Amino acid sequence: MHDLVIKNGTIITCDSSDRVVENGFVAVSQGKITLIASADDIPVPNAATVKDACGGIILPGLINAHTHLPMTLFRGLADDLALADWLNSHIFPAEAAHINRQSVFDGALLACGEMLLNGITTCCDGYFLEDEVAKAVNLSGMRAVLGQGVIGFPAPGAPNPEKGVEIAGQFVSQWKNAGNPLIRPSIFCHSPYTCSANTIQEAKKKAQDLGVLFQIHASETRFERETSVSTHNKSPIAYLHDLGVLDSDTLVIHSIWVDKADVRLLAQSRTCVCICPGSHTKLASGIAPVKLLEDAGVCVALGTDGPASNNSADMFREMGLAARLGKILTHDPTQSPADKVIRMATVDAAKAVGIKDITGSLEVGRQADIIVVDTNAPHLTPCYNPKSLLVYSATGADVSLVLVAGRIVVQDKKLLTFDVKAAMASVAEIAERIARKNERENKQ
Ligand SMILES: [Zn+2]
Repeated sequence: MHDLVIKNGTIITCDSSDRVVENGFVAVSQGKITLIASADDIPVPNAATVKDACGGIILPGLINAHTHLPMTLFRGLADDLALADWLNSHIFPAEAAHINRQSVFDGALLACGEMLLNGITTCCDGYFLEDEVAKAVNLSGMRAVLGQGVIGFPAPGAPNPEKGVEIAGQFVSQWKNAGNPLIRPSIFCHSPYTCSANTIQEAKKKAQDLGVLFQIHASETRFERETSVSTHNKSPIAYLHDLGVLDSDTLVIHSIWVDKADVRLLAQSRTCVCICPGSHTKLASGIAPVKLLEDAGVCVALGTDGPASNNSADMFREMGLAARLGKILTHDPTQSPADKVIRMATVDAAKAVGIKDITGSLEVGRQADIIVVDTNAPHLTPCYNPKSLLVYSATGADVSLVLVAGRIVVQDKKLLTFDVKAAMASVAEIAERIARKNERENKQ
C-alpha cells in the first residue's frame, strides 16, 4: 500500500532517457517516488490518498535556480530603467530604508506562496537576513537552497561589510545543523563589481570549507564586461576564474556577455550557469548564448531572478521566453526546443544548485516533488505534444496540484500550507509605506 498515487495523466519524467508515460500514474511513499508506470501496463495500485490528474500533465516540480525572494516588496517599484540606474538609484536605497527582519520574512513568504501556486517546488535564493527567508520557506513547505548575501558595502543585517563572510558562515552552520531536509544553506556573493577580489575569495573559501553552493552574478551587462576589461584587463568570467572561484560547486548567474574563451573557462571548470530571460529582457541586458554554452558542455539552468526585475515568478513564462530567445539569437527556430527548456527548469536546474540526486526528475527513489498541470482549458486544447503545450501555452496558473517531498502543498489551485491572503495583505501594507515615503521625498 502506497501513501499516495497520482493517476490518469501524461507523465513527463525528465529522466536520463526523457521518458514520457501515457495514461500514467506515480506512486509515493514516505516522501519518495516508489513507482512510475502506465495504467495500460500495470493496474493502478491502492494508496491511502488517490489524486486524479484528469488527463492532465504530471511533471517534476519546477526549480527556480535564481531568485531574491524578499524582493516581492519592490515588485513594480521602479520599472523601465537601465540596470545601473535601477539598482543604484532605486533598489539599493529602498533596501537600505525598508529591509528589516519582518519585511524580509513577509516578502519571502509571499514569494513562496506565488512560487508554489505556480508549480515551483524548489528555489535557489540569495539575499540578506537570510535566516528570515529560511523561516518563511520552512513555513511554506517549499524546498530551497538559500544563500546569505555578501556585498562590499553596508547591507541589512550586515552593517559592517568586513563581517559579511563571517555572517554568511554563521548562517550556513546554523541551517546545516538545523536538521531540515528541505533547506540547504549556501553563500551568495553579489557580484565581481560590488565585492572586492579578497571578499570573493574569502566567501568562496568559506563555502568550500562548509561544503555548500557558492552563487555569484556575473557578466550581466555589456557595461559590466567593459568595465571589468578596463579595470582588470579581463572579462568578468576570466577574472573569477583567475581568482580561483569557478568549479562545479559555483553557480554563475546571468553569463550573457561571454565570449568563446569565457565559455571554455566555464566548461573546463564544470561551473554551472543560470540564465533569467524575464529579467534579461526587461532590463535589456541581452540574450544569453545558450547554444554556445551548451555546445561546450556547460549546464544551463533557468531562473526568474528577483520579483523586482522580472516581475513575476512563473517558470512557464521563463521556459517560453528561453525557447523564443534561443531562436532569436541564433536565427534558428530549431534551437532551444521545448524538451530542452523543460530540462533547464528541472534536471539541469537541480544539477546547477547541487541537488540532482534528490529532485528534478520523476524517478523511483527521488523525492516526490511533483506537479500536475490541468489541461482542461481552452488555451491548452488540443494537445498534440505535451512538452510544447507546457512551454508555449501553459502558465503557472494552470498548475492544480503540487507535492513537495510527498506532502500536498497546493490542491485544486489552492495553497494549503499558510494563509496567502494574509501574506498579500502584509506586503501590501509595507508597499504602502514605501510609496508614501517616496512621495514625501519627491515633494521635498
Ligand atoms: Zn539576481
